[in-house]
Amino acid sequence: MSQAKVRVRFAPSPTGPLHIGGVRTALFNYLFAKKHQGDFILRIEDTDQTRYVEGAENYIIEALNWCNIPYDEGPGKEADCGPYRQSERKHLYKEYAEELISTGNAYYAFDTPETLDAHRKDHEANGKTFIYNWHNREKLTNSLSLSSEEVNQRMEAGEPYVIRFKSPEAETMELKDEIRGNMTIETKILDDKVLFKSDGMPTYHLANIVDDHLMNITHVIRGEEWLPSLALHVLLYRAFNWEAPKFAHLPLILKPQGKGKLSKRDGDKMGFPVFPLEWNDPKTGDVSTGYREEGYFPEAVVNMLAFLGWNEGGGSEKEIYSLEELVQAFSLEHVSKGGSKFDPEKTKWFQHHYLQEAKDETLAEQLTVLLKSKTIDISPEYSLKVVKLLKERASFVSDFWELGFYFFVAPENYDQKAAKKAWKEDTGNLMEELIAELKKINDFSSENLQEQIKGWIKSKEIGFGKVMQPFRLSLVGAMQGPDVFDIASAIGKEETISRFEKAKKEL
Ligand code: GLU
Repeated sequence: MSQAKVRVRFAPSPTGPLHIGGVRTALFNYLFAKKHQGDFILRIEDTDQTRYVEGAENYIIEALNWCNIPYDEGPGKEADCGPYRQSERKHLYKEYAEELISTGNAYYAFDTPETLDAHRKDHEANGKTFIYNWHNREKLTNSLSLSSEEVNQRMEAGEPYVIRFKSPEAETMELKDEIRGNMTIETKILDDKVLFKSDGMPTYHLANIVDDHLMNITHVIRGEEWLPSLALHVLLYRAFNWEAPKFAHLPLILKPQGKGKLSKRDGDKMGFPVFPLEWNDPKTGDVSTGYREEGYFPEAVVNMLAFLGWNEGGGSEKEIYSLEELVQAFSLEHVSKGGSKFDPEKTKWFQHHYLQEAKDETLAEQLTVLLKSKTIDISPEYSLKVVKLLKERASFVSDFWELGFYFFVAPENYDQKAAKKAWKEDTGNLMEELIAELKKINDFSSENLQEQIKGWIKSKEIGFGKVMQPFRLSLVGAMQGPDVFDIASAIGKEETISRFEKAKKEL
């Protein structure tokens, strides 16, 4: 028999911006699908209307597109298994819940939120946790404890009810996870989860299983936080008499210090984004920065995310992977069980690498755009020149400005410490002479400048530093930057001389 086509899904709830961990889940799904010539589906799990956030769905789609991991089927890409938003599928779920009732796998429950809350508080006061399951369901208000007449009466009277799963009392279940291997679980600890709510909507558990089945999902790859739901999900497949997909639960992404789950607060504290794109919270107005807006390339972010819980194995030390290479190399066997520490420095390292790999012309274009936003107009040739001079030191396009603003504007002030060291009493006169020398030079190429100026210094029989340090200070404002003749040549004769005049006046 031929194997079913691999179909995986990423199933976020649109409750806010996609966390970088969610992007990792999407990426691993994408890689797995493409590796096996399968389909990658986006399903929006929006059955919890109270948590719905405007704009979140668009954000998710934009984030996947930015990462170059587009879905094959999903909102806006309708195919046989649509619609792909659960809110548009809500008519489907009730009959499945009813089916479970008719097969004795589920029951109606009329307990009001207030009664359940009282039970919970009661238990808490005694240091216990209230669980609704086999041990007390006969004592609670449901279709197992009430007579069928009473159930009918309550329903006819329009009393609100939910549908709960009837989890088995005493069974040892064998669960299999593609990453974690086999696990056993005693069903007696499970609670009778609500499958269908009184507002007419399914819960996550029911909708998720029904849709995975109807969408022919073969592998469920999701975050570790869903592992506790695995037993229920497997029981649901069994109750429906459906073949269950394979499950793989991805390890947690941990704080840079290694303890606990990575949170937005860690990012705020340490100054790195935890979101792929900037997010404007429609309720609070808060703006959270994203990797895209911070100037990261998607290739760098994807490469970094791939290593959060995966490596090629076999002793491979390769770290730089294109998306295509990741597809080829990826396998669930090499996803680790243990959580993986988030390392913001490593992301920068990847970013530095991908910037070095980027075409100079592309970077020059981006730099021109950036400078335009600062109302600085430069020619494409000049932008390219600066890019070539600074590239090695840059990790972000913005670095060309930060490291090399003096290519575009004269320094506003001078590094005090450097000035003290470099600018001596006789420096002013020396600069005067230097200006006269420069005025004589017509070929302002870096090579010629170097030859002329060094020759001049030699002829004066003074130390190089005496001239070269104030030279740099005048052009840059500090003791930094590439070869000073390269800088002078780039900004040109007129500007170079004007900066000497300015320094002479101010220092
Ligand atoms: N809607 C769930 C979430 O927000 C999906 C979990 C799953 O993949 O089963 O993560």
